[in-house]
Amino acid sequence: MIHFKKKPRVAFFDFACCEGCQLSVLEMEEKLLDLLSHVEVVEWREVMSEKSDEYDIAFCEGSITRKRDVERIQSIRERAETLVSLGACASISCHNALKNRWPMKEVVEMVYGDSGGHIDTIPARPVSDVVPVDYQIRGCPVSLPEFETVFKHILTGQSYDPPNQPVCVECKLNDTLCVYEKGMVCLGPVTRCGCNAVCTAYGDACQGCRGLIDEANTEAPARVLFREDLHPIMAEVARKNPLTRKEILAKFTVYNDTSEPDEEEESSDDNA
Ligand code: SF4
Ligand code: SF4
Ligand code: SF4
Repeated sequence: MIHFKKKPRVAFFDFACCEGCQLSVLEMEEKLLDLLSHVEVVEWREVMSEKSDEYDIAFCEGSITRKRDVERIQSIRERAETLVSLGACASISCHNALKNRWPMKEVVEMVYGDSGGHIDTIPARPVSDVVPVDYQIRGCPVSLPEFETVFKHILTGQSYDPPNQPVCVECKLNDTLCVYEKGMVCLGPVTRCGCNAVCTAYGDACQGCRGLIDEANTEAPARVLFREDLHPIMAEVARKNPLTRKEILAKFTVYNDTSEPDEEEESSDDNA
């Protein structure tokens, strides 16, 4: 971990994403100004027009989905002492990885028909698949308390590992009613916490946006819904969600698709 001797220079960069994580960070308003008073922001396209190739800390949002993204993130990595993947797109590929289910040629044809020959696209991957990442801030969008925590850890030279317990732990700590009792299918049992179980606190099911816990048993939630001696709560969940086992399992891949397309099927020509 880096101990900065003077005010570190910070830059924000975006790759394939909706830029919602950066927008969320901006919503911190006064708190953000407090944090930024300890650094010098030298590039942040969403808020300023200045640019710089000299920075100490790079916050990188979005997935790597083009050949030119690979070169760009490698160049950022060479310049930054500390690199942070900001949000689910950058940390686990998020929805961008859904395209990895098909060969890239087919993906381009689906969107552009026969006029997409010039499109530069490769299977989406998280930043850490391409360059070493020092810190990850997960979530879609990022949890702002966690952003603040990680920011302080960086400035004080401490490491930070995203929590690896399931979201259910935070539900219990918050005394939140389990949404299975309301007949919903929830991915909390296999999803990393750290968001303070915000969705379930508001009565929604967890969709898995912070990524799976290590050794997640993604088969189990489908299994408990399809066994013969159904628990009454699960019988109600099954009645309200008349989904096939395949459809239940598909819910787990919305944020966490691990398809690995044939690399040879990548678009070979690009416009980078
Ligand atoms: S993680 Fe979600 S909010 Fe953040 S950039 Fe990606 S899609 Fe947008
Ligand atoms: S609502 Fe979801 S995350 Fe919370 S306890 Fe129930 S299954 Fe776990
Ligand atoms: S409850 Fe689940 S979907 Fe909601 S923010 Fe937390 S990890 Fe993401």
